[in-house]
Amino acid sequence: MNEPPQSLRELSCADDYDPNSMAVDKAREVIARFLHPVNASERLHVRNALDRVLGEDLLSPIDVPAHDNSAMDGYAVRFSDLQPGGETTLRVAGTAFAGAPYSGAMAAGECVRIMTGGVVPEGADTIVMQEHVKAKDGRVTIGSGHRKGQHLRRAGEDLAAGQVALKRGTPLRPAEIGLIASLGIPEVSVYRRLRVAFFSTGDELVSIGTTPKEGQIYDSNRYTIHGMLQRLGCEAIDMGVVRDDPRLLESAFLQAAATADVLITSGGVSVGEADFVKELLNRLGEVVFWKIAMKPGRPLAYGKIGNAHFFGLPGNPVSVMVTFYQFVRNALLKLAGRDPVLPLPTFTVPCTSALKKAPGRTEFQRGILSRDGNGSWSVRVTGEQGSGILRSMADANCFIILPTEQGNVAPGALVEVQVMEGVV
Ligand code: AMP
Ligand code: MG
Repeated sequence: MNEPPQSLRELSCADDYDPNSMAVDKAREVIARFLHPVNASERLHVRNALDRVLGEDLLSPIDVPAHDNSAMDGYAVRFSDLQPGGETTLRVAGTAFAGAPYSGAMAAGECVRIMTGGVVPEGADTIVMQEHVKAKDGRVTIGSGHRKGQHLRRAGEDLAAGQVALKRGTPLRPAEIGLIASLGIPEVSVYRRLRVAFFSTGDELVSIGTTPKEGQIYDSNRYTIHGMLQRLGCEAIDMGVVRDDPRLLESAFLQAAATADVLITSGGVSVGEADFVKELLNRLGEVVFWKIAMKPGRPLAYGKIGNAHFFGLPGNPVSVMVTFYQFVRNALLKLAGRDPVLPLPTFTVPCTSALKKAPGRTEFQRGILSRDGNGSWSVRVTGEQGSGILRSMADANCFIILPTEQGNVAPGALVEVQVMEGVV
């Protein structure tokens, strides 16, 4: 096997590399080869670490649970005291509550009333549920059929002291935050936030707050990109609109590369516009321009400018969002330290709409998943699918992913969907 290309320039010599018809998976795979997590971390109080990425393997300083304890409300007994074939009566010597252990030693013929989470007294090795005893006058009578060690949680059973409780690269969700607290750890090391600069290109664009002149439109991409970056926990650096002027673009690219880990632009990478941008980017760094076999989102540029990763997204608002979710999102998670970065889940459901689809490219149509009165899920397409119609994203709650070889879809056929909730 040949070694994978080490640089984007080398890549262009690979046999299966065609920048004018890049499969979605192939483009993802190429990008993934050049991604390495940022090499810096900071220490945070556990409560401030929500949604950050753990920067170290976290070892448990304690056994979890810390003591042998009861999984049930009942009685702690010595198994050897129980008559194998009949009833046994034991004297109740005391009580072990969660947080208030029984301090005496349990003699033969005795038991201790114990609550869930209570420390198992010395001498006891088995818990009998309270439902399985008859209690009277400080004594309990227990039937047969118990198993040695039942309903008892052993010290260190969940996690032994010194074991890895959470691995580096784990995203810290409420469950992990709680787990860290349960180990008594007040501070953790997390990767620093990824710094992502972004700007829009285009002479036709004005920012909100400015009245567009004839032929001008409001810049929306910068607002969706800002939102998408915030959702991913990145530090978003808004560089505004940069006009289609080589000098202004050059200084914007250089400024971004000097301050950010990643630069994302929208517009200016399509045919007609690409030429001077291409020339400029190849002078400043190492950038490849692809026509991805997908819709929407055909043109895409990827590369490095200095140490910064560069993603040049198309200009059309829907293409921006689709290419961001299909290529940039997972790349940013990997750079931010997430390990592993798993593909987003998809599943299949019947599609109630007829879908127009040309074979030869992957399509990401926008869909609405809903559940009918019988509890079955199905998807329908949002209206017009033009790549400039941002409403098709706003109305959608899922992507309908139509694979390369797929043609038109008849109503009722199964399609693959990817839910946006939690992703978008
Ligand atoms: P481009 O890729 O620069 O040729 O842009 C393709 C289309 O997307 C054009 O119709 C642009 O006006 C539109 N477009 C580009 N950038 C933006 C933006 N930031 N916000 C809204 N529309 C945009
Ligand atoms: Mg443009």
